[in-house]
Amino acid sequence: MKVGAFLVWSLIVFAGLLAVPAVSHTNAQTTFSLMASSMAFVGMAIAQFMAARPPVIEPLFGGLDRIYHLHRRIGISVLMLILVHYFLTPDFKGLSFTSGLNQLAASAGKYGFYGLTALLVLSIVKIIPKTRIEIPYHLWRYTHRFIGLLFALVAFHQMFIKRPYDSTALLAVYLNAFAALGILSYAYTQLLPWLRTRCYEVSEVEKHDGATIISARSKGRALRAKPGQFGFLRVLKAGLREPHPFTIADIDGNGTVRFAIKPLGDYTQALRDQIAVGDRLKLEGGYGQFNHRRGAKKQIWLAGGIGVTPFLAMASHLKGDEDQDIHMVYCVRDRKEAIGLETFEAQAEKLGNFSFVLHDSATDGRLDAAKLAAGSVIDPGEADLWFCGPAPLREAIVKGLKELGKKPRRVEFEQFQFR
Ligand SMILES: Cc1cc2nc3c(=O)[nH]c(=O)nc-3n(C[C@H](O)[C@H](O)[C@H](O)COP(=O)(O)OP(=O)(O)OC[C@H]3O[C@@H](n4cnc5c(N)ncnc54)[C@H](O)[C@@H]3O)c2cc1C
Repeated sequence: MKVGAFLVWSLIVFAGLLAVPAVSHTNAQTTFSLMASSMAFVGMAIAQFMAARPPVIEPLFGGLDRIYHLHRRIGISVLMLILVHYFLTPDFKGLSFTSGLNQLAASAGKYGFYGLTALLVLSIVKIIPKTRIEIPYHLWRYTHRFIGLLFALVAFHQMFIKRPYDSTALLAVYLNAFAALGILSYAYTQLLPWLRTRCYEVSEVEKHDGATIISARSKGRALRAKPGQFGFLRVLKAGLREPHPFTIADIDGNGTVRFAIKPLGDYTQALRDQIAVGDRLKLEGGYGQFNHRRGAKKQIWLAGGIGVTPFLAMASHLKGDEDQDIHMVYCVRDRKEAIGLETFEAQAEKLGNFSFVLHDSATDGRLDAAKLAAGSVIDPGEADLWFCGPAPLREAIVKGLKELGKKPRRVEFEQFQFR
């Protein structure tokens, strides 16, 4: 477990522990109920903080992609905890601290609970049960932003509801601190997004079989990103305004960037059809920790399909003096889909520490661990495996390498899905 995840779960559990001395003079049901609500509240506040994408915390979690995965797990836990709080109704039996706002706070709690339950279920359930209907991402994304407002409602509820401890109790101070963190994070996310976006203009669009390659130059402050990182891109054009994450396939010293985008769904297809030179872009980034410089001296890079993008950025920045030996395998369904071959082949020819193989499944058959090991100039058992591509390919290769007794020392991969 990464330090960040450990810290997050500890802060959540600590809220539950603080509830024990604060309410144990009531009864067991009330104690469990308030332990659950306190933990849920701190979880929600932390989730709001994570959604603000503070770049400084990325190393603690292993990248923004990992932060979003944890954010999702926190959401699932919060849903379970608020259900416990709702069904184990606290019973204060006249011991409560009271205030004139109690009634309003009780209503805020009730509506906050209904709203949160609905939005959290919508986040967890991607496909409507017993149908093949997937809840569209943009619908989910639009509704998900209201979670912050519901959090503010719940903060009001926890501050002014009848409760068996007063505002000087450690639990009250702890929860109020997280209320402030959650509300400030939400306000930042909703009101100040321009602070972290950069203005760009499309300078070139190339439509390859495998991807649309978009180059853009900065119109002000340039993006700062390391090779292998990703950014959020949106086009200031009707129908293309929704921000989507894409790896920065190349970035130069002036911040000029290149993206390689596979038309896989509505947005990426519309982007291919409609984007044109001169279009204005808003970019945000770079995010993520996928950079070979963090890795061992021997590395195998395995790219599956459009998962080649971080390797394109990393390979083009290799100088040969990295003190790392790298063997790259780029697996495509069909050679026509491959992008950036000139870059990989030129670097392999020029540099002594980089070798490159294209695996074309149409002619070479399905890539498996035995083929990977046989074709590699580096023994996978002595190397890091850096992977980007479909999860089933990664799982099959890692399992196969283990069976061959060539388990990589470390497997690094990018999560290509946030929700
Ligand atoms: C860190 C990261 C790096 C990526 N790098 C690349 C890349 O270099 N090239 C590339 O072609 N693809 C990349 N992707 C995938 C790309 O973001 C999705 O293919 C694209 O957003 C799909 O949008 P769509 O509407 O066309 O497809 P849909 O079919 O609508 O969506 C397919 C899936 O993409 C995800 N998705 C959709 N909309 C969004 C959104 N606004 N924000 C986040 N996720 C969304 C959802 O999980 C959804 O289920 C990357 C994804 C991540 C998380």
